[in-house]
Amino acid sequence: MISDILDFREGEKPKGEVIVIGSGIAGAEISTFLARHGKKVILLESGREQFNPKIQALNEVHFLGKPHREMNPNSYYHQYLKPHLRGVSRVRQFGGTSNVWTGKWKFFQPSDFDGREWIPDSGWPIEFEDLLEHYRSATKDYHFGDLEEEPFRTEIVDLRSRLNKAGLKLSSFYWEDKPTRTVQRFGDEMQKSDNLHVILGATAVELLLGNSLNSVKKVKCKSVEGKQLTVQGKHFILATGAFEAARLLLLSDNQLPNGIGNEHDLVGRYYTDHPKHHTGTLKPGPLIQKFAKEFQYKPKPRFGICFALDDKTQSEYQLLEHVLYLKPVYENWKERLKRRLKLNPFTIKDQNGVVSKYRVKFVTEQVPQKESRVTLGNELDSLGQRKLEVNWCFTDQDRNSISKTVELLETRLNEAGMGEFEFGDKPPSLENMTDAAHQMGTTRMADNPLNGVVDKNCKVFGTDNLFIASSSVFPTGPSYSPTFTILGLSRRLGEHLLKFTVQN
Ligand SMILES: Cc1cc2nc3c(=O)[nH]c(=O)nc-3n(C[C@H](O)[C@H](O)[C@H](O)COP(=O)(O)OP(=O)(O)OC[C@H]3O[C@@H](n4cnc5c(N)ncnc54)[C@H](O)[C@@H]3O)c2cc1C
Repeated sequence: MISDILDFREGEKPKGEVIVIGSGIAGAEISTFLARHGKKVILLESGREQFNPKIQALNEVHFLGKPHREMNPNSYYHQYLKPHLRGVSRVRQFGGTSNVWTGKWKFFQPSDFDGREWIPDSGWPIEFEDLLEHYRSATKDYHFGDLEEEPFRTEIVDLRSRLNKAGLKLSSFYWEDKPTRTVQRFGDEMQKSDNLHVILGATAVELLLGNSLNSVKKVKCKSVEGKQLTVQGKHFILATGAFEAARLLLLSDNQLPNGIGNEHDLVGRYYTDHPKHHTGTLKPGPLIQKFAKEFQYKPKPRFGICFALDDKTQSEYQLLEHVLYLKPVYENWKERLKRRLKLNPFTIKDQNGVVSKYRVKFVTEQVPQKESRVTLGNELDSLGQRKLEVNWCFTDQDRNSISKTVELLETRLNEAGMGEFEFGDKPPSLENMTDAAHQMGTTRMADNPLNGVVDKNCKVFGTDNLFIASSSVFPTGPSYSPTFTILGLSRRLGEHLLKFTVQN
């Protein structure tokens, strides 16, 4: 059933076995999964079906360090979105950020879970194998085709071996034709479900603990109209995205002065994103000419490929993981004329036309560090909650890694016959890179509470019934495109909770 906070009578206190907060990909996936398995679930969502600027304003933050990209209705970027959403990095609406995302699904690589000695605080307490079955089952359920077989197509194997010889590696991703929007995917099921009750317009503003101070008993919610509602449950899952998960833990400071799960002052720390540069181009070389069909962006759905320096090089030069995407730009009429007059005999053709160049998108991991963090500021939002201050900051290692990586990519791609970069006077640097709308790390997963906020099962340390489903638990986010791993972790948490709730 789907209802609204405004539908509840004064003093009514809905109760569920599992309370999920947030209806993005993480929250929608886990709440429907648990409801399908017989759990009585309440899903609380701040937003409503229609986008509402007043609700979206609850996401406003104050940037102390590097700011995020700005909303720009005239941006060439995100042209597929309505003007008021171009440049947005997270969305408060039923369905969350899935309402705007692009739909690229990418496995993390096995090495993404490993600690790398040259990157402080890197490494996950779980391994790729712990997520593999969940990646696989999601691939099947979401009809992604065979993400494991596709990279072994003859053409891809051939291209990969040529790039490997040049010290480069290749990875692949699945690009949906129509990006998954959770309301479209799960809306009907939610409406019809007897076990799942979605409450829209309900912003969770505080988690209330029992007397032992290690169990959450209730969530206090408010709506922008001033309505209040308290929801009770046995198990609680924050699926509010990385910023709001940390914020809600910090805002819940009436019983524990530092907030919940924050005994060691780690909530909100280690915030990372993927700094992104997307204004360069590549003048294509003969290798792209041979494999042009593998680089096209249309028609979708499709398997896309992207590049990076190989692991040996990253280790040798102590570099951060990164990825380079190439997007074809098709010839304009002047270029067509030149070609027809045979002034430019070198032609690259894919199934969509003649390519004149490729737009280069370069994205990098950042070093996880304590100082890059979100904290509660003093400014209040319209519900009277303290807004976040975001100090997105970097180390010299980040800067050095970007310049060395770009230098090596430039040489090696050229030597491999891929072509020449053209960055003009703006090669990638932290000054001209933007965020990638991939907030991660603010409640990182660790083996013990001295190093993180949640354990291997995404349970908040110091609590026995509070879990987090979000990229906020990523200790590092080396590979680009976090959402497949958010989904994999959510499915893993769903299964864990089924066992856990039977025992408890
Ligand atoms: C333009 C754009 C393109 C992107 N493209 C890609 C891509 O191609 N591939 C990829 O992997 N990633 C992509 N991303 C990132 C991707 O969208 C996110 O990783 C993913 O959607 C996060 O899902 P989530 O469920 O964790 O969080 P969200 O989708 O952000 O959901 C959080 C939900 O919680 C609700 N909420 C927040 N606070 C509260 C509260 N206190 N009480 C109640 N409800 C609350 C919000 O309203 C929201 O519905 C893109 C992002 C953007 C902005």
